[in-house]
Amino acid sequence: MIIIMERNATKVQIQRVIDFLKDNGFQVRHNIGEVHTVIDAIGDKTTISPDRLSAFEGVKEVKIIREPFRLASRDRKNDDTVIEFANGVKIGGGNKPISIVGPCSVEANYDDLLEVAIAAKEMGCEFLRGGAFKPRTSPYDFQGYGEKALQFMKRASEETGLLTVSEVMDANDLPMMLDYIDVLQIGARNVQNFKLLQAVGKCNKPVILKRGLASTIREFLLAAEHIMYNGNCQVILCERGIRSFDSAFTRNLMDIASIPVIKKYSHLPIIVDPSHGTGQRYLIEPMAKAGLVVGADGIMIEVHNDPENALSDGKQSLSIPMFKDIMGRINMFNKNIHYEKNCLSANTR
Ligand code: PEP
Ligand code: MN
Repeated sequence: MIIIMERNATKVQIQRVIDFLKDNGFQVRHNIGEVHTVIDAIGDKTTISPDRLSAFEGVKEVKIIREPFRLASRDRKNDDTVIEFANGVKIGGGNKPISIVGPCSVEANYDDLLEVAIAAKEMGCEFLRGGAFKPRTSPYDFQGYGEKALQFMKRASEETGLLTVSEVMDANDLPMMLDYIDVLQIGARNVQNFKLLQAVGKCNKPVILKRGLASTIREFLLAAEHIMYNGNCQVILCERGIRSFDSAFTRNLMDIASIPVIKKYSHLPIIVDPSHGTGQRYLIEPMAKAGLVVGADGIMIEVHNDPENALSDGKQSLSIPMFKDIMGRINMFNKNIHYEKNCLSANTR
């Protein structure tokens, strides 16, 4: 940590900071500059937070050198985390990108879900998604069918062999959900629901953690850290767009750069969700490909058998024929980028 003192910090103020750091086990060096005194503190930052130091009188700024997300960081583990399922599907570590496909919400008719699941299977996708508990902005909108929806998910999984993903909103639902699905999703609106993060951290199930509507990349990785800190290291990050000032053409601003940034600083796998990232059907194919080109480990896409009558997110959902068309091209694209990546690593070996 580097502590920059105010221009007019007194000797007493400087000494108090130095004493405090030494009392907490830090090695301290300080340089008295012409204008500012700079204190260089080497030690375990978990014992005192930068926030605490910035509260000291005379402190201008505290700069951290090591990222605060320790378990999620490449400093701790340089090799990519690979999440492996019983059927052999793997996420991360340069494995073939996975695809998660399905309706925003599981609706009343099981055959509708099955129709999407069969199409997903036919196109080589590995996961079926479907919301049972929906975090809706308005209390008057459809809230999800709860356990009945999860029963449908399990049935569709048994019929098709697809793995399943569904969002958890309340830690009390976890024991029940664990019986039905393979991957828990934490939605964008719950990315800083720390009690929920702790609860999924205590489960032995992979978790897809979506980026919050206004999460910085550091906050996003710290949310993952909460899950890992509680014991569950099977975290899959998901870039799903952030709020921006311009919502005229897209629902969110899909932050493509966050993928290589996160890959640089974290070993966790990351997927992209262009459905929520853009809110527009015509942008799903180009933005899914953009995510894959910059290193995403998979994609999540909303597909509905009747988007015009969907109970949630119909506008961004692909119909089954559209999905088959687009997914066919994404599969070809994946083969090519896989081939190029292999050539690249062979050339640099
Ligand atoms: C969803 O996946 O349906 C969803 C609600 O996503 P997000 O949390 O990213 O808005
Ligand atoms: Mn949705």
